[in-house]
Amino acid sequence: MDEHVFWAERIADKILKQKRKEYVCEGMWTPSGYFHIGNARPEIFTPYSVFRILKEKGVKAKQNLIIDDFDPIDKIPAGIPIKKDDEDKFIGFPCKFAPPPFKGFKNWADYFLSQVSGVIDQFGLELNIISSYDLYKKGKFNDLIEFSLNHSKEITIVWNKVAGADKPESFLPIVVTCEQCGKSLFTTAIAWDRKKVKYKCKCGFNGEISPLNGNAKLHWRVHWAANWIVNNVAFESGGKDHFSKGGSVDVGGALMAEVFKKEAPYQVPTEFVQLKGAKMSGSVGNVFGLKEWLEVASPELFRFLFFSYKPNSAIDFSLADNSFILLNDRFERAERIYYGEEKAENERVEKKLKEAYALSVIAKPSKTKPVHIPYSFAVQIVQFLNPKKQFAETVKLLKQTRHIASENLSREEKKLLLKQLERARVWLEKYAPPEFKLSFLEILSEKETSAMDSSARKLLPAVAKKLSGIDSADKMQQAIFEEAKANDVKPKQLFKTIYLSLTGKESGPRAGLLILALGKERCLKRLKDAAN
Ligand SMILES: [Zn+2]
Repeated sequence: MDEHVFWAERIADKILKQKRKEYVCEGMWTPSGYFHIGNARPEIFTPYSVFRILKEKGVKAKQNLIIDDFDPIDKIPAGIPIKKDDEDKFIGFPCKFAPPPFKGFKNWADYFLSQVSGVIDQFGLELNIISSYDLYKKGKFNDLIEFSLNHSKEITIVWNKVAGADKPESFLPIVVTCEQCGKSLFTTAIAWDRKKVKYKCKCGFNGEISPLNGNAKLHWRVHWAANWIVNNVAFESGGKDHFSKGGSVDVGGALMAEVFKKEAPYQVPTEFVQLKGAKMSGSVGNVFGLKEWLEVASPELFRFLFFSYKPNSAIDFSLADNSFILLNDRFERAERIYYGEEKAENERVEKKLKEAYALSVIAKPSKTKPVHIPYSFAVQIVQFLNPKKQFAETVKLLKQTRHIASENLSREEKKLLLKQLERARVWLEKYAPPEFKLSFLEILSEKETSAMDSSARKLLPAVAKKLSGIDSADKMQQAIFEEAKANDVKPKQLFKTIYLSLTGKESGPRAGLLILALGKERCLKRLKDAAN
């Protein structure tokens, strides 16, 4: 049995059976609303994963993202400041022809697309972003439009059969853009005389026009299949909702087999990314997009997310709890395993994590492990230091805590480090839950002292004395540990007591680091006083 550890290799094997000259991996998105990280999975990263493997196998391949900008706007996404009375100026127009929701953009589609095209390069993709309208306008769909109108009866029969629909026999799978009002959402095609389509529009206009060269778009289910032919698509993934029985994937496949007589691309359903427990939708506000991701996390982590999970497994994480930190932990562990600093539980996991890591790195992994401060640690230190203003102190602390080998960093390393710390700072500010926020406890009260182990509490002045002569976080950590052992106190109890007296919390980052970060002088004074 074929035993590829990486899911995209198993898919690539199946696609290669199509024996094509070129393998196009594709996703498709309508720019009527926000592009969020949930869309990025089926429309960009699942195709990218397969494209990347095909390329590594040495076959000709490319990746497309089709922008369905010829589709009409059917509602105003939440968060877009358009008054109810003004909605009519937008709804019904193809995205490409509606005015932009904000100044500085060419049209509606241009605004929403800018949120993808403006940042996608930073994720290390080689993506061909293609406007669907442009393809229609250039006449690439002309033959298929004529063919579909000439075979509208067969299309309707297949569609009704597969989807259980009851379209009338007279149905024409074409959507004309009204010549009078400019909208396409409210037109109905009535007749086709092999040259022109007769249509009527809700605005009251009755017209007759050639459906070619951008005057009309195929109905979306037929458009989907026609697009496979126009762009010669070998692989496509889509949100799993398209894959239900009698859904658009079934209809598309049947149209290809029975009407167009062409091979449908290989398709896999992709699960949604669940953020904060709710399915993300481009039409609701508070959207977390690619740009927002880059504010708090690296593009490599994003890639890792998709390379390490199969498309049909749900990814569920929240930016507002520990699951986001755990995702970072997983990536950091894969990195340590890749560089041989750690072993995985078994060979298969080891191979899988190494491969997922290697693919996640943009370009190629470096020979030695790059500077990489664990996210959970970055979150702690940015609370006490401002790395931009206190860079030397930050570097010194990182050296003391053995997160970097030397204080002599290259320009690139400095940049990388600052970026990592900045992301952690933004996360703390925008998303982190209270338990991640640390600060010096200004007044020690009964609440904290009553939670302390009494023999550990008695040791605090001695700990303070011992630490006064030590400058490194690691050595402080060690000294506290030894002090506990020497006095028959459980180290865990002594550390807990130290945390309670300094932050009022029962746990925290390593005590040596915490003392340095909060300020040694006031911490030692507190430890001296806390026994009374
Ligand atoms: Zn009209």
